[in-house]
Formats: sequence, structure tokens, C-alpha cells
Amino acid sequence: MEEKLTFCRQCEILNQLPKDVLEYTNKLYRLLDKKDRATDSLISKRLDICEGCEKNTAGTCQSCGCYVAFRAMKKDGSCPQKKW
Ligand code: SF4
Repeated sequence: MEEKLTFCRQCEILNQLPKDVLEYTNKLYRLLDKKDRATDSLISKRLDICEGCEKNTAGTCQSCGCYVAFRAMKKDGSCPQKKW
């Protein structure tokens, strides 16, 4: 079975992404070495914070311009506003 981002069922972040961006996000997730991935619970915690952040616009961080899912999936990812 193809791996894809499934950690975010409770939040709307992934649902806000355009379909092609979601596919790209899942592709990056699969390409990311497992040792470099954040745990599902950590990703979920991060995206919960992003979901309530005033800088989040449809899954894009207006502080850095990245899709927040990209930042959150990396173990060493960080929030440019130091919220996580
Ligand atoms: S500033 Fe931080 S918490 Fe807010 S959307 Fe960007 S990455 Fe998420």
C-alpha cells in the first residue's frame, strides 16, 4: 500500500491544499527517509498549532511562504514564528 499523509484526519490543513499540492506533499513524504520524518503525533501537534495560527492561509504559512505540511513532516522542521 502506498504511504501517504494520514496523521491529520482531525484538522483541515490537508483538506485545504489543492489536489496537486496534496499529491506532491504525499510524494515528498514517501521520499523523505523514515529517520528524517517527524512522528505522526508530532506532525499532528504541529499542524494543530498551524491550524489555529493567523499566518495560516489554506495550508500555506504567510510567514515563510511554505506549505505547513512540508515543514511539519520533517523531524528537524521548525516554525518561523517559533510556535513549534
Ligand atoms: S507561523 Fe508557524 S504556526 Fe503559524 S502557520 Fe507558520 S509554521 Fe504554522
